[in-house]
Parts: sequence; structure tokens; C-alpha cells
Amino acid sequence: METNIKAGDWTRPCRDCGTVEESCFDVGSKRDGKTYRKSYCRTCARVRVKANDRQNPEMKRARDARRSKRDWHADTLKRWAQEDPVARRQKIRNANTRRTHGISADEYAFRFQQQGGLCAICAKEISLGRSGPHAPAHLDHDYKTGALREFLCSHCNVMVGMAHESEDILATAILYLEKHNGY
Ligand SMILES: [Zn+2]
Ligand SMILES: [Zn+2]
Repeated sequence: METNIKAGDWTRPCRDCGTVEESCFDVGSKRDGKTYRKSYCRTCARVRVKANDRQNPEMKRARDARRSKRDWHADTLKRWAQEDPVARRQKIRNANTRRTHGISADEYAFRFQQQGGLCAICAKEISLGRSGPHAPAHLDHDYKTGALREFLCSHCNVMVGMAHESEDILATAILYLEKHNGY
């Protein structure tokens, strides 16, 4: 992508104070990779943000909260990296697993071991994580209640979903296959 191509009007005066001095303006690039000059000079833009903050204090509060949360996250991750990189990886993994499945990574791995590393439907060997020797395990859950069920291979996981988790549909599918397989 080409960069530093000036686009838009770089000679237009600041809409508030009328200055045309290019060094007074901030520039920004858009998705097209071209550089655009702002419509207001830096000083006037700052005044506008301040005025807007006075008029919409809740917007400013939300922005500040977003920033401090982001800073807190960055600081915490940095601190963890310095103090104990291994524990940091584990903490991040735990948080990710908790967000996706509602349990820690340890509990996730424990459940997998308890199940013997086999798909609960077709009994094929499955692997925890993408890098294992077998197809990756999917921890199935009840879509209505969110309750965890068991680990499935991706085929069985898709099959259950495609059948809308319906025992009736799957039972009828068995009858259908039996009929056509000539039992
Ligand atoms: Zn200005
Ligand atoms: Zn399976």
C-alpha cells in the first residue's frame, strides 16, 4: 500500500481560528493509506474536545474508564511477564478458557483426562489443543442452559449441532439408515 500521499484539502483554513499554517495541524491516515490533514488546527481541536467533555461528562468518563482499564491490563501483563513468564502464560490460558467455557484451563484438562481422551460419541481419539496428534477436542455444552457436557471430536460436535440437538431427529435418522442399509 502506498503511504504518505497527501489527500484532501491541505490549504483550507482551520474552521475555528482560520490559520492555514500546516505545522499547526495534526495529520492522520485513513484506510486508503493516504494522509489527510485535520479540519481544525491542533489548538482549536483541543478546545473542542474540552468543550465537548464539559457538555458530555459521561462520554469523557466512559473514555477515561476505557483508557484506565486498558492501561491496567497492559501494566498487569507487563508485570506478570517480568515476574513469572510461565505463570503469566498459565494465567492467560486460564482466563481464555474461563471466558470460553466458564472453567479454568486446569479443570478443562482434568475433565479431558477423566474422559480418557476419546470422543464421547464416536470414541475416536481426540487431542487437547490444536497441536496434538489427533483431531482437536470440542467441549460440548447445552446451548440453552450453558451447562457443560462432554468432549466431542469436531465431526460429532457438528453432527449434534446440525441435528438441532434433537433426540427425535437423531433417532429418526437411525431408523432411516437402518431402513436403507437393509436391516
Ligand atoms: Zn484553529
Ligand atoms: Zn466423534
